[in-house]
Amino acid sequence: MHVTLDIFKTAKISRDNYRLYVALNYLSYLGFGAHALFIPLFFWLGIPELAIFNIFSTLLWVLSYFLNHAAHHREAIIFAAIESITHAALATYFLGWDSGFHYYFLPIILFLFINHKQNVLTIIVEALIIFAGYLWLSIYTHGAEFAARAPATVLDGLLYMNIAVNFSAFAILGYFFRIASIRAEEQMELLATTDTLTGLFNRRKMREAIDQEVVRYQRDKKPFLIAITDIDHFKQFNDNYGHDCGDYVLQQVSLLMKDSLRQQDVVARWGGEEFLIMLPETEMEGGIQAIEKLRETLANTLYEYKGNQFSVTMTFGVTLYDGRCDVDTCIKHADEVLYAGKRGGRNRVVSTPIV
Ligand code: GH3
Ligand code: MG
Ligand code: MG
Repeated sequence: MHVTLDIFKTAKISRDNYRLYVALNYLSYLGFGAHALFIPLFFWLGIPELAIFNIFSTLLWVLSYFLNHAAHHREAIIFAAIESITHAALATYFLGWDSGFHYYFLPIILFLFINHKQNVLTIIVEALIIFAGYLWLSIYTHGAEFAARAPATVLDGLLYMNIAVNFSAFAILGYFFRIASIRAEEQMELLATTDTLTGLFNRRKMREAIDQEVVRYQRDKKPFLIAITDIDHFKQFNDNYGHDCGDYVLQQVSLLMKDSLRQQDVVARWGGEEFLIMLPETEMEGGIQAIEKLRETLANTLYEYKGNQFSVTMTFGVTLYDGRCDVDTCIKHADEVLYAGKRGGRNRVVSTPIV
């Protein structure tokens, strides 16, 4: 399943804070939901001190939610952490260990580690303090006065509710850790395989795609077409209208090439203003037709940049991979015929001879 969290795209958060922001956002729903529920519950159980404390807890979670949305992540975390710890400690102290409020100490450890703004040593020290508090409560809260007088069903009810809320907190944290790592991997993959200016595949990714086609050729014996293309007199766009115009041309031409070719065809930025096109499972004749059509479409398109209208032509060198020579040699051949096309007057498709 692919998960995108569009709701956060509108918020003022940097990518750097994304993981924290998302996890805390959903934890605050759980936080104010659970605490709002505790208010009537504690009144009903006859512990108004805890009920009143929960009014503050609920407000703190609401505050944490809004701080988080306003990009004050640090403050949001501090409020959420303080609330969780004091609430867990006080409730365990008043209601006794068996009420299960001590469980709220545990997801805090996981949450501390999500906060990558803190160094690991600080997190370990904080975790140890929480651990010490947990041990202290486990020793001194077994004989709480409430536990002695409360009916067993009430204590059990609290225990199971706390277990359920804590399971949810762990699930939320785990889920967002998962999403954060999937996103990070996707971003890394994207950065490693695409050209940032044009959004096309880069050389590395194109090599991968070609290698896959070679494997397919070995199985099916279906040849594929390789074309190298280079923008004609590209330097003039830089020289006449500035480097930004050159970049604009590269982007427009890239878009057009992608749009004009079939879904399965692959286009990559091979060099500065040079592109490599691969048409899988394509014979020479059909391939040349497709590339010729592309050349025509490109040449017939008018561009406008800062009030200047112009057209762009490209020269293509085309060759077929049919297992007779290796990929590097094929690319070299395509390059040679491309330069023959340049010498021959540009804006044309030249192919290696079919032997
Ligand atoms: P030809 O028709 O023979 O291909 O001529 P040309 O002017 O296209 O070729 P030449 O190799 O002389 O010039 C290519 C220029 O492309 C030189 C380089 O500065 C420019 N260039 C390379 N990469 C980029 C880029 O990313 N952005 C811009 N704006 N220019 C680039
Ligand atoms: Mg050129
Ligand atoms: Mg060039």
